[in-house]
Amino acid sequence: MTSHTLNELLAEGVRGRYILVRSDLNVPLDGSTVTDDGRIKASLPVLSKLTDAGARVLVTAHLGRPKGAPRGEALPPPRSGPAGRTCRLQGHPGGDTVGSSAKEAAASLQDGEALVLENVRFDARETSKDDAERGAFADELVALTGDNGAYVDDAFGAVHRKHASVYDVATRLPSYLGDLVHTEVEVLRKLTADTQRPYVVVLGGSKVSDKLAVIDNLIGKADTILVGGGMLFTFLAAAGHKVASSLLEEDQIPVVQDYLKRASDAGTQFVVPTDVVVAEKFAADAAHETVAADAIEDSSFGAQGIGLDIGPDSAAAFASRIKGAKTVFWNGPMGVFEFEAFSAGTRAIAQALTETEAFTVVGGGDSAAAVRTLGFADDQFGHISTGGGASLEYLEGKELPGLSVLDR
Ligand code: ADP
Ligand code: MG
Repeated sequence: MTSHTLNELLAEGVRGRYILVRSDLNVPLDGSTVTDDGRIKASLPVLSKLTDAGARVLVTAHLGRPKGAPRGEALPPPRSGPAGRTCRLQGHPGGDTVGSSAKEAAASLQDGEALVLENVRFDARETSKDDAERGAFADELVALTGDNGAYVDDAFGAVHRKHASVYDVATRLPSYLGDLVHTEVEVLRKLTADTQRPYVVVLGGSKVSDKLAVIDNLIGKADTILVGGGMLFTFLAAAGHKVASSLLEEDQIPVVQDYLKRASDAGTQFVVPTDVVVAEKFAADAAHETVAADAIEDSSFGAQGIGLDIGPDSAAAFASRIKGAKTVFWNGPMGVFEFEAFSAGTRAIAQALTETEAFTVVGGGDSAAAVRTLGFADDQFGHISTGGGASLEYLEGKELPGLSVLDR
């Protein structure tokens, strides 16, 4: 891929130019309180590089899937940001993202200032399947940049979407990879081409059906795939074992059986847990015990038992595979880590990732949240991916519209 980077744009010079930046500001909310501002903080370096260089920055982003119109609150006064930079937030008396208030606010922007436009998803054209509708919205966004504008995509979490602010604007303006997108692409490339071996992939999470396409594409690429989380029960069932009341996707059993068969021909080894922590019910304080993975129904809870974590033997075996690897990709918690009693498997994997010499990548929203809530620091890992769905689609081998449009 030969895309132009932010550094190239900065070298061209941006003083006085309107630069449209697509950021990922899609933070988790509890009511109207931001519960994790990680994505906002991660977005600041690119915005600062541009404002420091004298650009007039127009930031687009989405937040959730809003229904109805913006509330049209009064414009807050321009604010001095953390580093003394002026950042304006657009108010919405007219109730749209590219309407008169956006035009006025953009026109009054000074060199070195940034304006955050309203949530692009308030405009239905942003996500429209109709090229002309999306194009019309993109035209209005691009019009805000005057006649010497440029576009920077810094929203890796949205590159798998063919949306106006991600895709269509890039067909209309000289376009550049923001640092966040650039880093993600470099990392993901290391996981798909010329990967350092042994390449160990750890997959968990809730549903195997969410991850099938990734598994499919990793067969023949990964040396070892360690299977944990809710999906492990479909693997156990595919091997003919009973899983009591654990999460099981029966319709996926034949698919998993096909993977197991293809993997052995392709030189990829699936490793499924040998022991499992089984609980009486799905609850933080549920009674639980560790049993052999092929004897889940023999636990004290019989057919009621629910497997909520991998057992300690499996965690140790997985950890030793991770320590022997050169590249590790991890997606999906090993158990219901949200409950302390069932977090040991996930903790053991995170710990092993911090101890291995391998290049380590953590992908997936819940996996990233898990390592943080379990007390690990981001810099203990090679890379924590910011875009859950986008990184998985990249590893599935899909074309990502937001990236291919930047490829020239
Ligand atoms: P990611 O967002 O990292 O891709 P997923 O969304 O696939 O991960 O899955 C995360 C969820 O999987 C967590 O909320 C966790 O509680 C759940 N999970 C893990 N193991 C099990 C299990 N054995 N049974 C039910 N849910 C599980
Ligand atoms: Mg998730």
